[in-house]
Amino acid sequence: MVEAVLYLDPPPHSWRTRRINVSPEANFAVVELDREHYAETHERGATSLPPEYAAAIERLRMVCFDRIWLEGYSGSLAWGSGNYRVTLYVPYPHEGETAEALRAAEVEDDYSKLEDLASRLTLPVDDWLAPGERLLRRGVDFQTRPGTFLRFLRAKAASLDLRLNGRAVPEGVWIRPQLSKVGKLNRSAFPENYTDQPDRWSDAPPQTGLLRPLETRVRRGDHSKHALPTDLRRLGARPRVDCPCGFRGAFGGYGVAEHEAHHQLWSIGLRVPKTVPWEFGNLAVVTTQSSVAWRRLAAQLARAPKRENHYDFASWEVGDRPEPSSTNRRALLLRHGEYAVGYLVAADLARHRRWDLESDVYAGEDTTVRPSIDLIWVAAVHRGRGVGGALVSALAQDFGCAVADVSWSDPVSNAGQRLARRISPGGIWVH
Ligand SMILES: [Zn+2]
Repeated sequence: MVEAVLYLDPPPHSWRTRRINVSPEANFAVVELDREHYAETHERGATSLPPEYAAAIERLRMVCFDRIWLEGYSGSLAWGSGNYRVTLYVPYPHEGETAEALRAAEVEDDYSKLEDLASRLTLPVDDWLAPGERLLRRGVDFQTRPGTFLRFLRAKAASLDLRLNGRAVPEGVWIRPQLSKVGKLNRSAFPENYTDQPDRWSDAPPQTGLLRPLETRVRRGDHSKHALPTDLRRLGARPRVDCPCGFRGAFGGYGVAEHEAHHQLWSIGLRVPKTVPWEFGNLAVVTTQSSVAWRRLAAQLARAPKRENHYDFASWEVGDRPEPSSTNRRALLLRHGEYAVGYLVAADLARHRRWDLESDVYAGEDTTVRPSIDLIWVAAVHRGRGVGGALVSALAQDFGCAVADVSWSDPVSNAGQRLARRISPGGIWVH
């Protein structure tokens, strides 16, 4: 909706023309009759508004207030007095009708449209605050959020000297309106003020039908009524002190939340962020010249083996910007579903030795440039399924050599030795 202007006097329009401006706000529309310049130049406008006109406007204004308030708006609304401007705050979608009702009142002295609109928008507060305990249901008795509705009812009840005893629940609002002590005193002291508001609450018949559920905390207490004390003893079992994910102090103390996060990474891998443009395939070769999203993904994955193997240094650094690497350092990342589950970091190096795995003997020097594994890691739940071997094969294939020509970082971990033995039983190159 955009701001609309309705002219009340025939054209040509000038600054003297009476007009109604309708401007949209977030929680309501402002409908304003501007008769300032008209009032200054016409005798009729100079006097105050006719009492019926003013009363009809005031009634509609209050009815609209209640509606806007009930929708959850808690800000203040202000309007001027006098007869130059008439400002109404109107809930959607009644701004058009309101403008028309104001026009009829202003131009035709017909106040019935204002009266009619006010009657239709009047909320059934009297019904809501009728005596008796009951559930006012959301979607049936009211539409707004139960908490907002209860706040509204409390304020209305207070203005009528009622005590509400209400509680908001997901399906609605439980209430039991009763006359407050002050209300009883006022009524007995000034009965003449209450002739149009009879006391419906004091002698209301006792409650029948649906009963309010007990407070949650009371019910919780009931679940333990007559319970026997639980037997507590000591048992000589010895679960792990440290977790296989590499986290020390994993099961107690301050680190448990951090451990759980880390353990998840170690166990099922790293969820690939949406910022990483991994649109195709399940293997990514990240280099030091890749975009920061890729470099960061590799660095996050590098945290898993760092803990597990108790390394001091991370095997991949994000770096400030894409920069070439003299050794062609790269990270092979393997994806499975939403997760990165495999990680191999390698560089091309030219100083190797031969290691006979059976006899544990190191042989001569070698200066061939070989793809050299710095670190290989597979998420725990995917181990023993050839994932590591596949990564080593990919490294060799990418470089253009045989798997047996790949060089391994020394010292090779136990898991790395098992893998190397399987891939290259005769012995491996180490650097
Ligand atoms: Zn763990």
